[in-house]
Amino acid sequence: MKRILITRPMPARVVAEAETHFDVEMREENTPLKPGQMRGALALYDGILPTLGDMFSAEVFEDAEGSRCRIVANFGVGYNHIDVAAARAAGIAVTNTPGAVTDATADIAMMLILMSARRAGEGERMLRAGRWTGWNPTQMLGTHVTGKTVGIVGMGRIGQAIARRCHHGFGMEVLYYNRSAKAVDIPSRQVESIEALASEADFLVAAVPGGAETRKIIGPEVLAAMKPTAHLINIARGDVVDEAALIDALRERRISGAGLDVYEREPEVPEVLRKMENVTLLPHLGTAALEVREAMGLLAVENLRAFFAGEDPPNPVN
Ligand code: NAP
Repeated sequence: MKRILITRPMPARVVAEAETHFDVEMREENTPLKPGQMRGALALYDGILPTLGDMFSAEVFEDAEGSRCRIVANFGVGYNHIDVAAARAAGIAVTNTPGAVTDATADIAMMLILMSARRAGEGERMLRAGRWTGWNPTQMLGTHVTGKTVGIVGMGRIGQAIARRCHHGFGMEVLYYNRSAKAVDIPSRQVESIEALASEADFLVAAVPGGAETRKIIGPEVLAAMKPTAHLINIARGDVVDEAALIDALRERRISGAGLDVYEREPEVPEVLRKMENVTLLPHLGTAALEVREAMGLLAVENLRAFFAGEDPPNPVN
């Protein structure tokens, strides 16, 4: 039986499925692996099932050629923590878990759009603090979401799932910016630059993968192009947004609010952001639902099973 390392505690269904195919070791800690632990794992296991935070960098893969590990089956669609080229150079396959995460993450984007627009976090904080004096016609007036314009940066699986929700659920106009030309099955328009998108959107939503190509693509210029009434939503990766520039824009009220699920240096979230009332901050909840985490885990295990059975794994990352 092949030996597999699962780098975090997983839902019971995932562990049970993995154990039907493999000799499984699962770490009990929820902390990311350290570089030495990753090198050790490459030497000791046939396959590794890692996740966000396990930084499989080029240095980690440096001496991995000929190592026991043949596959790194990531738990999650985002794999910017794995140097895929370095893995390939060492002859190690990489897979991820797309699809399983799409709807849950799009739901969190909608939640952040609604919470940010309707000042839900601020209202809840006020009520819990005993500061609510009762309903009145001008209390906590937010922004109406229905019928507004959403601008989606990265029209992939999640971007399109957000677009469908915005169109069908909220009658919104859908605009998007994407690396390549993209045909979409709902009324929508592709825009030629992020700045152009930012200037038209009431809600600018980041849904691109993280990594070198997209680092800080939402920076000072994009934020400056946004309307003062607009909200920025980030469910993608923290490094996609220039956090310092965002803080400046919020502080100077150049944009109305932000809804964030991801941060530049997770789990560190700048104190200035935590103190702002017009910011909704979630602790990376995109896929945090039991069924979704089970589906992700089962998909990662299926990638491992197929790989070791000599089949093509369903979700190779190239
Ligand atoms: P996907 O289907 O691969 O979509 C990514 C889209 O981004 C593609 O349409 C791609 O364009 C576009 N893109 C890539 N680089 C770009 C660039 N430089 N400029 C403009 N567009 C670019 O991925 P997905 O399944 O939708 O997931 C997207 C990301 O969401 C993941 O990579 C992950 O980091 C993040 N995520 C976050 C959470 C969370 O918990 N908050 C959960 C799941 C996923 P092309 O058509 O040209 O390829």
